Amino acid sequence: SGKFFVGGNWKCNGTTASISKLVSDLNEAKVEADVDVVVAPPFVYIDQVKKTLTDRVEISSQNSWVGKGGAFTGEIRVGKGGAFTGEISVEQLKDVGCTWVILGHSERRHVIGEDDQFIGKKAAYALTENLKVIACIGEKLEEREAGKTFDVCFQQLKAYADNVPSWDNIVVAYEPVWAIGTGKVATPEQAQEVHVAIRDWLKKNVSAEVASKTRIIYGGSVNGGNCAELAKKEDIDGFLVGGASLKNPTQQTLQPKS
Ligand code: 13P
Repeated sequence: SGKFFVGGNWKCNGTTASISKLVSDLNEAKVEADVDVVVAPPFVYIDQVKKTLTDRVEISSQNSWVGKGGAFTGEIRVGKGGAFTGEISVEQLKDVGCTWVILGHSERRHVIGEDDQFIGKKAAYALTENLKVIACIGEKLEEREAGKTFDVCFQQLKAYADNVPSWDNIVVAYEPVWAIGTGKVATPEQAQEVHVAIRDWLKKNVSAEVASKTRIIYGGSVNGGNCAELAKKEDIDGFLVGGASLKNPTQQTLQPKS
């Protein structure tokens, strides 16, 4: 469903020099016409990337402030930022050229401690202000082993669904935590099974139209060697790539569906 989507999540990596090299490699890379390509640099390098990267590639942030939607404690009245030390507002991200934001990444959920509702509110605020959202979900290893994969994914999806005004500008990223940064990629069958379940959940809980239109992308140890087999699966509409997105894109092939 929709255009194939390839996102590079650079996480907390890079320097002015290494990012300058990565951008010039990206500018030289051949990109198929029918693919959305997005990179997510650390906040402090977004401006540098915006000024040097080809317009063919869109820019995402890796997080955004919740805005007036809510906060850890109490109601926030200031939509455009304000006294929130260390945070970056949706308005500032748009100002420096971001068109996307990654929200609900497992590292923010499980390392930093963001919860479902906080993430849902961030998504709602970003969408209201016309920043497109890469909405991440995914189970931990112990949850998969306990047979709770679908329950966990559905609960995380529900927090988005309960908050967002519309699904028009959302890409769902299924990123099983056990596959992230581990080299242990989900098999195409494992990923497809969860993607179908996500689509089915959207059909039952949002609408048939949203279920068929929404792109569901996979993340977790994707690289140039394993992406082609994953992309063949009917419900895998793209990828969110971590480690491999820091490597020279002219030396790899991230292929869309053939
Ligand atoms: P890796 O590709 O390094 O496993 O990271 C995936 C990811 O978390 C993308 O958001």
